[in-house]
Amino acid sequence: MFSILAANFPAKPQADSGTKQENTMKQEDDFEANLAGDEGQSEESKSGWFRRIKKGILTSTAEKKETPEGLWTKCPNCNYICTVTELRENLFVCPKCTHHHRIGSSEYFEILFNDNQYEVLFENIRSKDFLHFTDLKSYQKRLEETWAKTDITDSIRVAAGDLKEHRFVVACMDFEFIGGSLGSVMGERISRAVDYCLQNRAPLMIICKSGGARMMESAFSLMQMAKVSGKLSQLSDARLPYICLLTDPSFGGVSASFGMLGDLNIAEPGALIGFAGPRVIKETIKKDLPEGFQRSEFLLEHGFLDFIVNRKELKDKIATLLTLFKG
Ligand SMILES: [Zn+2]
Repeated sequence: MFSILAANFPAKPQADSGTKQENTMKQEDDFEANLAGDEGQSEESKSGWFRRIKKGILTSTAEKKETPEGLWTKCPNCNYICTVTELRENLFVCPKCTHHHRIGSSEYFEILFNDNQYEVLFENIRSKDFLHFTDLKSYQKRLEETWAKTDITDSIRVAAGDLKEHRFVVACMDFEFIGGSLGSVMGERISRAVDYCLQNRAPLMIICKSGGARMMESAFSLMQMAKVSGKLSQLSDARLPYICLLTDPSFGGVSASFGMLGDLNIAEPGALIGFAGPRVIKETIKKDLPEGFQRSEFLLEHGFLDFIVNRKELKDKIATLLTLFKG
């Protein structure tokens, strides 16, 4: 085999590759000389722009220019890189694969309410460490740290405003506040949101994004499941619609109670929704889970959801639904 090749391609290619190798080696030498600040041999072959005059990097740390943080973002699904501005204009949906990035309540309010005009309600209700619970640190300390770190006051924010021609109330969870956990404050804020809806004859939407109950509040946290579920039935009695939007991730006590009690239960594409996480289930039942298990598409197929909505169509779809409910 080798001899045939050698016969077909005589001496010339070998000479070529030899020259190439020499060139590469020379380039490497030049590059190193340049890095080290050595001048000489290759001076005329290089532009002055790329020639380092002094050896080493001499910029002091204080003078170094930082790339602004958070300017670029990478899609966790398809690795597409784009600017945060581009992503924001696309409502935090990947322009390439339509992966829905996780966003907070401010972003959802901006998407839903006309001209970003809304009133935030019940901000004065705050969590309290009434059980004096301590894990790695005390619950009180955890709360204070989270308040200092974020500009949100608890894991859910309630806002009232106009969505197209409809008066609308949205209660939206923030995952960055202790994993969007269901505590007494979330329960109370939703209850008051229901009262507000009853007084103003407005429909309610809860946007779920939670890891489940807040363990630092123990049974008080679990009680919120019953409290909110009971309270929501008053909306039903008053013939006011309640829509539940499940986003990635919606787990534990939230999905096991009011997260599945909507007149309409809808979800964003690809959202992970369930009670216990897939790893826990897999370890318990000792069986492989089906593909796409607990994703919104899987849940839709198995009858848990009414439909899946792309974030870019969310506002229009909700407006149509509210018109239909009114009729
Ligand atoms: Zn993507």
